[in-house]
Amino acid sequence: MTSETTSAPNFIRNQIREEVEAGRQGKIVTRFPPEPNGFLHIGHAKSICLNFGLAEQFGGDCHLRFDDTNPAKEEQAYIDAIKEDVSWLGFEWAGPVRFASDYFDQLYAWAQHLVREGKAYVDDLSPEEMREYRGTLTEAGRPSPYRERGVEENLDLLERMRLGEFAEGEKVLRARIDMAAPNINLRDPILYRIRHAHHHQSGDKWKIYPSYDFTHGQSDAIEGVTHSICTLEFEDHRPLYEWFLDNLPVPARPRQIEFARLNLNYTLTSKRKLKLLVDEGIVDGWDDPRLPTISGMRRRGYTPASIRKFCEMIGVTRADGGLVDIAMLTHALRSDLEDNAPRAMCVLKPLKVVLTNVAEDHEEVYEVAGHPAREDMGTRRIPLTRELYIDQDDFMEEPPKKFFRLAPGKEVRLRNAYVIRCDEVVKGANGEIEELRCSVDFDTLGKNPEGRKVKGVIHWVSAPHGVPVEVRLYDNLFQVEQPDKDRDADFLEHLNPESLVTVQGVAEPSLAGTAPESRFQFERVGYFCTDRHASAPDKLVFNRTVGLKDTWAKIKKKG
Ligand code: ATP
Ligand code: MG
Repeated sequence: MTSETTSAPNFIRNQIREEVEAGRQGKIVTRFPPEPNGFLHIGHAKSICLNFGLAEQFGGDCHLRFDDTNPAKEEQAYIDAIKEDVSWLGFEWAGPVRFASDYFDQLYAWAQHLVREGKAYVDDLSPEEMREYRGTLTEAGRPSPYRERGVEENLDLLERMRLGEFAEGEKVLRARIDMAAPNINLRDPILYRIRHAHHHQSGDKWKIYPSYDFTHGQSDAIEGVTHSICTLEFEDHRPLYEWFLDNLPVPARPRQIEFARLNLNYTLTSKRKLKLLVDEGIVDGWDDPRLPTISGMRRRGYTPASIRKFCEMIGVTRADGGLVDIAMLTHALRSDLEDNAPRAMCVLKPLKVVLTNVAEDHEEVYEVAGHPAREDMGTRRIPLTRELYIDQDDFMEEPPKKFFRLAPGKEVRLRNAYVIRCDEVVKGANGEIEELRCSVDFDTLGKNPEGRKVKGVIHWVSAPHGVPVEVRLYDNLFQVEQPDKDRDADFLEHLNPESLVTVQGVAEPSLAGTAPESRFQFERVGYFCTDRHASAPDKLVFNRTVGLKDTWAKIKKKG
């Protein structure tokens, strides 16, 4: 990449490097543990890059494990999408795709083990009663009247829960730890709930499902995970994570390490809220190019390299760093596309130009570099004809002083070709501009005109050879930096009504036949990518990925 690669601090990487250098750490094993209840978003990308990145860096393994303990909210479609996203980002999980549900038999055996040790019991309190007995941050909890049940009774009830003899909510299995613990997570947390639900992996085998807390650390231990990396909200769960490891015959001793989650301005990073946008039809599915989902970003035109670069730039700390500026993400994107996207000319809002001193059947073709710095991208052929299109924005009938593009009586250079002068503006019955009649100065190909300076250069496309294209101009989905700042306020109120504007443009003929998911820089306009679904080689649909102006690079220079 052309721009500097800035790496921010990563305390977990530093810590592991120290462990490795001191010879205290063998092969490291990490895992990425998504719950398959939605698509992955840019926040998950931070966790993916961290976990897979550490494994890559230290020659270890990273597992992909679905944390699938809540069948009601989970779907196979999410599993498939998550696998595709991780692979697209360029990471490979070690071994098979894993599921917490693979360990349900072992977890159940361990639940029985706790019961036998007097460290778990079946509780009949209702959810409301349980809440009431739990106490508060300042008040100790009270023991449930069922807390002293005998081992045999507990084993029998647990087995009958498993067999489906009780209704949902009638009973739960709880750990028997300490109802007066200052950390509420240790006040006899729930290990199993009754759920008569069909599970996407285990089918109808189970009528009870383990809680997140009872599942996560033991799954880590079963898999030999060495560093179990999660976001800060799990810090208070760490004592419980360790309690299970201390009280069960687990085969390994993983360590939980917490880091601050990523929050981006103008962006929602909550699966629940993204799902609402999808379910309400406000966006075009989970991979709508306006969503911060990995598949949405992919459809928008983001590259895996740009997302990985961004995750490196933001670093990993324990300090809740507040909001990251989305300009940093688009900076990483631009610097990748600047180097790797071929150039093309495309007119988004066509205005017809007739070159009056060019013959009807005249045609000359320029051979132009596909990329200014990449010979490997070859050349493209650009025909000039009597009729062409320029962009409506590049012409003004009454231009202000510093307008260096086309205006009546003024000159401008057609990119890669001649200087032209606008001689006449032709209008329709309603006064709207129909076409410009211009003349070519044939003495200006590749050189400046004698004695006068032409400052402006505009892009253009031959009218008879141009390829019609649909262009979807995407913008931020939300108008405010933190759409979900106020918990109660409806974030839907902050939707940007102009987040998608569709125009019919004309592209240079070299783009004919472009495959879906191809990225370009439209010169002077921005970066664009053919849509994965809607675009076909004979019917091109482009998504605007990002504009050319890099505000982050500017901020950095000033700062
Ligand atoms: P959401 O709040 O969107 O539902 P989640 O944390 O419940 O996200 P999981 O599928 O459980 O979603 O997340 C998988 C992993 O990704 C977890 O280890 C989680 O900590 C991490 N993760 C989720 N969101 C972020 C974020 N914004 N920044 C960094 N890591 C994240
Ligand atoms: Mg989660």
